[in-house]
Amino acid sequence: MRSNGFTFVDHWRVWYGVAMSLEDRARKAREIAAQAERYKVCEGCESIVAERVVNCPNCHGYRFDGSAERVISQATLLGTREQTSVIAEDLE
Ligand SMILES: [Zn+2]
Repeated sequence: MRSNGFTFVDHWRVWYGVAMSLEDRARKAREIAAQAERYKVCEGCESIVAERVVNCPNCHGYRFDGSAERVISQATLLGTREQTSVIAEDLE
């Protein structure tokens, strides 16, 4: 299963990148990059999840890349990617 955008999990709370403003995502991405050792990236769907998560809540995968480089590059992507679809709010 692939989400339409980025998902990341912090303290068991699932954050869906597509539902967040670019500003929120950029702020979250900076937090994650600053503490990369506390996170890892799901090999199945590229979600960023907290280090202690055992199964990805998005795709239920159990393979993760915990390297700081991977987490930081994924967080950077999360903070900069534009929304790929127009949502109702954008049309007002
Ligand atoms: Zn996953």
